[in-house]
Amino acid sequence: MKEKMEFKTETKRLLDMMINSIYTHKEIFLRELISNASDAIDKRHYLALTDSSKASDNYEILIEADKDSRTLTISDNGIGMTKEELVEHLGTIAKSGSKEFLEKIANEKTPDVDIIGQFGVGFYSAFMVAKEITVYTKSIQNGEAHVFTSEGLDSYEIDTCDKEDFGTKIVISLRDNTEDNKYDEFLEEYRIKELIKKYSDYVRYPIKTWVTKYDAKEDAKDDNEEKTHLELETINSMLPIWKKNKSEVTDEELNNFYKSKFMDYQDPLSTIFVNVEGMLTYNALLFIPKKPIYDFNDRNERGLQLYTKGVFILDKCKDLIPEYLRFVKGLVDSADLPLNISREMLQEDRSIKKIATNVEKKILAELGRMLKNDREKYEEFFNDYGINLKFGLYEEYGAKKDSLKDLIILASVNNEKRITFAEYKEKMAEGQKEIYYAIGKDKEAVSKLPQMDLIKNKGYDVLILSDDVDEFMLQVLAEYDGIKFKSINQGDLDLIDEEESKKIDELKESKKDIIEDIKKALPECKDVIFSKRLVEAPCCLAASEGLSFEMERVLQAQHQSHGMKAERILEINPNHEVFKAIEKAYESNKESVSKYAKLLYTQALLMEGILPSDPKEFADSLCELMVESVK
Ligand code: ADP
Repeated sequence: MKEKMEFKTETKRLLDMMINSIYTHKEIFLRELISNASDAIDKRHYLALTDSSKASDNYEILIEADKDSRTLTISDNGIGMTKEELVEHLGTIAKSGSKEFLEKIANEKTPDVDIIGQFGVGFYSAFMVAKEITVYTKSIQNGEAHVFTSEGLDSYEIDTCDKEDFGTKIVISLRDNTEDNKYDEFLEEYRIKELIKKYSDYVRYPIKTWVTKYDAKEDAKDDNEEKTHLELETINSMLPIWKKNKSEVTDEELNNFYKSKFMDYQDPLSTIFVNVEGMLTYNALLFIPKKPIYDFNDRNERGLQLYTKGVFILDKCKDLIPEYLRFVKGLVDSADLPLNISREMLQEDRSIKKIATNVEKKILAELGRMLKNDREKYEEFFNDYGINLKFGLYEEYGAKKDSLKDLIILASVNNEKRITFAEYKEKMAEGQKEIYYAIGKDKEAVSKLPQMDLIKNKGYDVLILSDDVDEFMLQVLAEYDGIKFKSINQGDLDLIDEEESKKIDELKESKKDIIEDIKKALPECKDVIFSKRLVEAPCCLAASEGLSFEMERVLQAQHQSHGMKAERILEINPNHEVFKAIEKAYESNKESVSKYAKLLYTQALLMEGILPSDPKEFADSLCELMVESVK
């Protein structure tokens, strides 16, 4: 019985886009349909591993063109679809890729059509060339056959039908030719062959189409007439690219393979070809996308594809790649794994563990090479993925720190470009004992920090930490090549000589009273001291060793601070006019010091980017002071 159903709203939008598409590579529809056919055969093949009655001994994909009816037909003997699956898969957008695509273009008046290829809108892409699509499908699950028809507008129809073989047959009625668009090309033998070669050469099943063969002259009855006949021919080479010899594969082939398999419209930034033979034999083909692919932050999407002896087994195997490298796309094909391996078994499998360790090593080695030989490319890489390496270093209590520390680049005060820890160390000034760092948005912000005064005078470089994870990463590292990391606003900086230091200590002793009274006014402060790091500025806030202000902020934002706070120390510059003024006021009125102490402290807080707990009090005292000063 025929049933008419409405497409869901978002499907309609996608269809509308396809129908009105000005996308110039309409040809990708064939790639998408062949890929669906191949997936469907994979699924049947997989099912047959546990139920041999469901197997077929000649899996194939057939492409047939009929110029008279102007139809192109794509058939497969894969798993087929039940009626529910037809509704669910072709009537609704189930695929996250298509949803993401819609979200991405939702707010754009003239959507960037070039991203159609990136999102792999699949079946619907056929509406770029079709005026009507008919899908005949017989499910191997329940043996029922259905036909789905649609013009891609608001609705589709589903009916039962007769179909002999399991699998799916998709008939595309091509649109009429227009001035700008000629659809007849998709009926041409040469064009069909070309597209199969271009996009689907590595599909593991034969893709066949009818090819014109010229008969030998002797067979022709009339000499003037050239006789031809049609023969079914397999067009794709089927040998997976990763099984080929590395030297036989061109960059262009690899790039095309990557783009069609992982739905990217740009060439990858880097390709890693791994070929291991021995106790454990496997191939891996890994790609770093130029830009993170849309699902890059979705933790469920991580993982490599797993093949055994060229047969696709599982998608997105997390066990093949560590979390922090989740941006890497690719596949592993091993001859040593059973065909029926399950996700659960993967976790325990020793071969998988070995492969994963090696895959990780290869990726890091490639990154190391890039950093050394092509700095510009590495910087591009680091812009998008550096944060992942930083997390990788920080996670698991720094278990990976030794393999990652030399891949980190950070901005610094004395350099235009980001530098490695090794480069920092190499350029350390004489007498410099530690690697200094500061938290800040950029060079300008950090250079303005009061704590920078003495360091600048000494010419020391300071690493600039701008990502939340940065300081945690340095904590895990603790040191680089024997040199400790040191925050410019924590603890003692050891920047002045002993004599000067002693002088300041003595001064503090002689001004004990005022310091004590300032401290009393500031219960939030753990200590008030005369600074050994300030030159120009009147005061600054320092934290004692341990939790820093930045870490306090990050933990608080993640609700993980558990009430912990960085210990605040107010450092005062005893040589500054401001301190001298406060001292003068103190001599005539001891009470007044509390107000000035609070003002100083709040200033110091603000410079650290921390808001005062009572901004009104701060504003009021400032006003009072202004009024007094002009009296
Ligand atoms: P994608 O293939 O990227 O998931 P599509 O829109 O192309 O997205 O297809 C949606 C779903 O429809 C597929 O995931 C699959 O379940 C089903 N499907 C499409 N083509 C076929 C086919 N030839 N045989 C069986 N199922 C198919």
